[in-house]
Amino acid sequence: MADAHDHCAKPDLLEVSEAENKIQLAIQPIDDIQVLPLKHCLKRILAEDFTAAFNIPRERNSSMDGYAVAIADLENNNRHLRVVGTSWAGKPFAGVLKAGECVRIFTGGILPDNTDTVIIQEQVTQSADAIYFQAEIILGDNVRYPGESIKQGSTVMTAGTQLLPAEIGMLASLGIVSLKVYRQLRVAFFSTGDELRSLTETLESGQLYDSNRYSLNALLEQVGVTPIDMGVVPDNPEQLRETLITAANISDVIISTGGASVGDADFIQPVMESIGQLHFGKLAIKPGKPLIFGNIQKTPFFGLPGNPVSVMVTFMILVRPALFKRMGKPTHQSLQIKTPLSHPIRRRPGRQEYQRGILSIDNNQLQVTALSAQGSHILNSMMCANCFIVIPAETHLINAGENVFVLPFSADL
Ligand code: AMP
Ligand code: MG
Repeated sequence: MADAHDHCAKPDLLEVSEAENKIQLAIQPIDDIQVLPLKHCLKRILAEDFTAAFNIPRERNSSMDGYAVAIADLENNNRHLRVVGTSWAGKPFAGVLKAGECVRIFTGGILPDNTDTVIIQEQVTQSADAIYFQAEIILGDNVRYPGESIKQGSTVMTAGTQLLPAEIGMLASLGIVSLKVYRQLRVAFFSTGDELRSLTETLESGQLYDSNRYSLNALLEQVGVTPIDMGVVPDNPEQLRETLITAANISDVIISTGGASVGDADFIQPVMESIGQLHFGKLAIKPGKPLIFGNIQKTPFFGLPGNPVSVMVTFMILVRPALFKRMGKPTHQSLQIKTPLSHPIRRRPGRQEYQRGILSIDNNQLQVTALSAQGSHILNSMMCANCFIVIPAETHLINAGENVFVLPFSADL
């Protein structure tokens, strides 16, 4: 019986890791920087470092509604205190506490100087201007300290960070009104195929609606670039050449879908070679083998295959990291989880495969199940899946219970 890990990756196909290296080498960040109001920075890439001008929190404050006390005051089992004032969020208590006294305090209220601990109101019985409590109190309970979140003078964010909701909130808490970011990347994209029709047209036999342009547009918006929709181009070398040249003049990256293979109606590769520079044209990836990468003038170009699942897989695995690099964000390793497979996978070795799978919990154990329909035309597999199961090129059998690497689809992208 053959070994489950025969070394039989197809020699004429470029391996995925080599393709990733070639792409990373060829793609350079744009160097256009602009100043934008913070509110308009979602998904933008920061072009400057930020150092905290002050501590966050700035001062000691309460994390709960309750009573600010001095722990030393509670020695000798003193559980009765007099309430002598209130520290509201935004309106600190101005007085000084004496022994046996405490201050009513609300979340965010500043701790009076000689207090160090907050007793939550649920643990207190209040009568007139005094409180009584029984709970065990520990020094520093419910107190937030200066610099717990961010220390004054520390680097809060570095250039290359993508600004997502948490980053935007953090910059606001530092009082940053506007900031330097990379200009939004312009990505031109089009579909090719004589069989493709616009969504409002009536379909004749052999025709289908152009779905790739819609999924691609959505993928691009999720990344945070400006999509430039160049429509459907027929399988015609002259029109493809014109479209690619126009695209190179108006965009930072070009993406096409369809016509990337070596069939008689596949013109992307010869056209691209006639007007640009080809880096590679065939990958040991499944789905998505006929994948072209090159540049037209100085603009990087990805010729993705036409099948709808191949488009999404190759975009997520290879194009998205390239877009991030071009946007000014250094590459990062996406989250990979090692998880047992619920059912065996048998397959033909030769290409690194990204099977669509479902990560789930069974008996308190994370597991992954490959969807049964893995055809590259079956777009519902992408709808049902929540991850890719990464199968190395040489593998032809993975038994149930064996660990596999899984790439979860992240919620934001
Ligand atoms: P191709 O890569 O051009 O050989 O196309 C492969 C398959 O994907 C064919 O069945 C095409 O009809 C289909 N296809 C190509 N482009 C699109 C598109 N934009 N939307 C939906 N299906 C497409
Ligand atoms: Mg075609």
